[in-house]
Amino acid sequence: MEKGFNPFAMAQAQFDAVAAKLGLEPGVREFLRWPQREYHFTIPVHMDDGSVRVFRGFRVQHSDVRGPCKGGIRFHPQETADTVRALATWMTWKCSVVDIPLGGGKGGVICDPHEISMREQEAICRGWVRQVWRNVGPVQDVPAPDVMTSGQHMIWMLDEYEHLTGGKYPGFITGKPLGVGGSLGRTEATGYGVVYTVREALKRMGIDIKSTTMAMQGFGNVAQYAAELFTRYGGKVLCMSCWDQKDQVSYTYRKMDGIDLGFIRGITDRFGTVDGRKAVEAGYEKLPGEAWIETEADILMPGALENQVNAETVKKMSSRVKILAEGANGPTTPEADEFLKARKIFVIPDFLCNAGGVTCSYFEQVQNNMNYYWEKDEVLAKLDTKMTNAFHAVADLAEKRGEYMRDAAYMIAIERVATAAKLRGIV
Ligand code: GLU
Repeated sequence: MEKGFNPFAMAQAQFDAVAAKLGLEPGVREFLRWPQREYHFTIPVHMDDGSVRVFRGFRVQHSDVRGPCKGGIRFHPQETADTVRALATWMTWKCSVVDIPLGGGKGGVICDPHEISMREQEAICRGWVRQVWRNVGPVQDVPAPDVMTSGQHMIWMLDEYEHLTGGKYPGFITGKPLGVGGSLGRTEATGYGVVYTVREALKRMGIDIKSTTMAMQGFGNVAQYAAELFTRYGGKVLCMSCWDQKDQVSYTYRKMDGIDLGFIRGITDRFGTVDGRKAVEAGYEKLPGEAWIETEADILMPGALENQVNAETVKKMSSRVKILAEGANGPTTPEADEFLKARKIFVIPDFLCNAGGVTCSYFEQVQNNMNYYWEKDEVLAKLDTKMTNAFHAVADLAEKRGEYMRDAAYMIAIERVATAAKLRGIV
């Protein structure tokens, strides 16, 4: 992570600017700019080699005024309390902008899943739940997968929760595997949701998606499914950048006439890292990590971590770029926003663009509550409707008021949360 970059300071700065624009009362502002609660704890684990390692875990509950807190759990070596605070805050705006009855939360563990076995990861998952189970749950705070966590981690956590509570509570956590309370479409949901918003943005611009190209940063769950749907719609993915654990740097793998998605997926590991040797053998260019942002593409899709489009990298963007679709959370810094505004790039802000995941998590909870499971087409059709409606509500406001897309999305999201807090009589 860039030195001096603090995602929570960035989340608060974004909030403050829009709160001022909306003329929010000082008490309401103060309430919404901080998490309501947070938990910091240790997770001791017996490692495979017989030693004991103590991991640090977090759960931050930013807001529960519109419903139970909701948000993923990340496993990342550079996790910090402020990163989790920022991500929890963005979850509040995310659930609000797509108008689902949930608040915002986020969790994390400082660890590197590349270097710990699945048994050790299971112990971390169970330890995490043992620390916070009284303060999370279907009607309080509902976790989900995020960076380097998957359905497998979710079901271990659910199992631990059900041991502790003595009941069956599938709505405790979302992103579960199929057959144990998971929803069809959940794995695809975030990436597909990104592409639904891109499709609608292109329609508004009068551009045929079949004539467009996309450059991606990251090749994990979000990027892979975004690439799948974008390709199915007739667009071309030109490159993706990904982390190389061995070399401890990122590389971009590029093919200017379009990647072969099936092939690239076949040589990608579970962390979203492409096998560089095989890619080069197949004729892909192997370039420095930042080359994705310099690629001449119509659409840029950061799909991994924060702070990728910053004051430095944004200047390298090609003049062809028309849309920045933020699949990742917090990929763009406020300095880069100024540049994007000046360049008139159409930005689909993170908490709108990548809201497909949590929207499908909400559908998963609804199905858990009914104990009745929908067909995949039904899930994806509902997801498309939610994302499309939310996108146009934001784009209409941005157009009508001449606002930047990020600010328009914030205006809608913050207004709804502020109204709920006022109606409850909290502020
Ligand atoms: N981790 C995803 C996100 O950042 C999904 C959260 C959820 O499903 O609760 O939106």
